[in-house]
Amino acid sequence: MTSDANTEFDAIVVGSGMSGGWAAKELAERGLKVLLLERGRNVRHQVDYPTDGKPPWDMPYAGQIPETEVERDYAVQKHCYAFSDYTKHFFVNDREHPYESASENPFTWIRGYHLGGRSLTWHRQSYRLSELDFNANKLDGHGIDWPIRYKDIAPWYDHVGTFAGISGSLEGLAQLPDGKFQPPFELHCVEKAMKQKLESAFPDRRLIIGRTAHLTKPTAEQMALGRAPCMNRAECQRGCRFGAYFSSLSATLPAANRTGNLTTVTDAVVDTVIYDADTNRASGVHVVDAHTLERRKYRGRIVFLCASTLGSTQILLNSRSEQFPNGLANGSGVLGRYLMDHVGGVRVTGTVPGFEDTYEKGRRATDLYLPRFRNIEEQDERFLRGFGFQGGAYRDDWRRGTYGAGIGAEFKTQLQKPGPWRFGMGGFGEMLPYARNRVWLDEKQKDRWGIPMLQIDCKLGDNEFAMVDAMGADGKETLEAAGLTDVRVDTNIAPPGLMIHEMGTARMGHDPANSVLNKYNQAHDVPNLFVTDGAAMTSSACQNPSLTYMALTARAAAAAVDMLKEDKL
Ligand SMILES: Cc1cc2nc3c(=O)[nH]c(=O)nc-3n(C[C@H](O)[C@H](O)[C@H](O)COP(=O)(O)OP(=O)(O)OC[C@H]3O[C@@H](n4cnc5c(N)ncnc54)[C@H](O)[C@@H]3O)c2cc1C
Repeated sequence: MTSDANTEFDAIVVGSGMSGGWAAKELAERGLKVLLLERGRNVRHQVDYPTDGKPPWDMPYAGQIPETEVERDYAVQKHCYAFSDYTKHFFVNDREHPYESASENPFTWIRGYHLGGRSLTWHRQSYRLSELDFNANKLDGHGIDWPIRYKDIAPWYDHVGTFAGISGSLEGLAQLPDGKFQPPFELHCVEKAMKQKLESAFPDRRLIIGRTAHLTKPTAEQMALGRAPCMNRAECQRGCRFGAYFSSLSATLPAANRTGNLTTVTDAVVDTVIYDADTNRASGVHVVDAHTLERRKYRGRIVFLCASTLGSTQILLNSRSEQFPNGLANGSGVLGRYLMDHVGGVRVTGTVPGFEDTYEKGRRATDLYLPRFRNIEEQDERFLRGFGFQGGAYRDDWRRGTYGAGIGAEFKTQLQKPGPWRFGMGGFGEMLPYARNRVWLDEKQKDRWGIPMLQIDCKLGDNEFAMVDAMGADGKETLEAAGLTDVRVDTNIAPPGLMIHEMGTARMGHDPANSVLNKYNQAHDVPNLFVTDGAAMTSSACQNPSLTYMALTARAAAAAVDMLKEDKL
């Protein structure tokens, strides 16, 4: 975006996605001169959403991508459900961004390298972790204790949720704390009937509307940033010209820009954090120009790494010095370890009897959520921790069963009639932190920018497999209790990475001997270095994690500015 001649800043933020946007906003609003470095291209809000509002007949292949192009350029990204001809420009080209994972343990690394990162393509489901989640490691002994509790992060969930705009319903569930919500999207009549049946059979299984980072009743602050209410087009992953869903481009970066304190430089690949052994501080970063490959340096009083879980860890591992031969701030030796994702791949579907005289009206930009109901008060014998489901009801259309088959008047008449109501939901389960699940640098292979390639080895453990079985059984029981017939469970376990909630590898903890970051996401070993993306997570819980990254980032930024003011950094 800018090729700024100035190379000295108060704060350097690496990465402009979900967490980088928040770091830039919070630091700039607190008066720091902030440099935001983004490895990908500039994307202008509203202007650079080339498929926004485009019907399939205006797309070269009606929204499909030629198979040769997919296999050549998107061999990994193609596995993401949101990848299509409408969105491919917001996914990396896998040929240009290689990494390795063992063939017996494939890791599916879904990425977007451009201004805004994956905040442009996310599904916007926004849930808080609860006290149960922050206590879990300590209670069952898997992983180390989180250095924070719900009360520490609750005000920051309020802070980021209110600014981002999360729509949802108040439910009073201990395992899924409520937030300060905008009005929820509505359940339709089929979902309401299912909810009623299910909750009278199982009062602890609640079918609620998804809590979603969409404006349904924008505040004056949101409108002042140019954001408007959601129009229910449900084509969000192409980018939204109304700024109705939360992204760095619609929300945090405009807020940071209006302070006059933000400088953004795109096409700037950070390869290392510079470490000054005399002061034991990070003094800045090295950047490789994405196009010319020219290397340059920026200096800052504090450095925030927000390059995504694996992106930030890759930078730290690559920042080696005499004091930190195995990666910056890696005195503990755990940098790169305890990689997690969510467990998924269980889909439960069924037929909803009745309601033949009703049909869906328009679209809805969110799904339903069935929050975790296991291991809250009593311990289930089958597995530790919990899982939730996301899904929704729909009517089968002309493609049902008859696709491609048939001829004549009867067939044509059938094509014009909607099919039965159906409901489908997919599970999202917690993955335990295992030391064996890790990333490291391949010393022999470097990418185009001279950065050693990441090697990833991550696999599910016994608890995750037991959870997958339980998800299927519990999902079936749940839909049957909601009155569905023909309930079936399809299990196709997602390889780690594919749930796109990769976490851990620079975890927070009390003890510098077994964690990288302290309770403020501050490196134990290097006080002016902060890592606030998913790398910091000490456990994965089962909720979609981005809201937590936002809250941790805003909290860390406030703490860092206070420490700077008190001359503690
Ligand atoms: C299709 C899809 C659906 C999703 N749905 C949900 C959901 O419903 N709820 C939820 O909570 N999460 C969801 N996620 C996950 C969510 O998008 C991520 O958790 C979130 O974006 C992570 O934020 P981040 O800041 O860590 O990383 P990102 O948003 O990926 O941003 C990282 C940024 O850093 C830049 N970067 C990387 N390396 C460097 C470097 N060396 N130098 C400079 N810049 C660098 C990248 O280009 C990128 O812009 C979804 C993701 C996808 C793709």
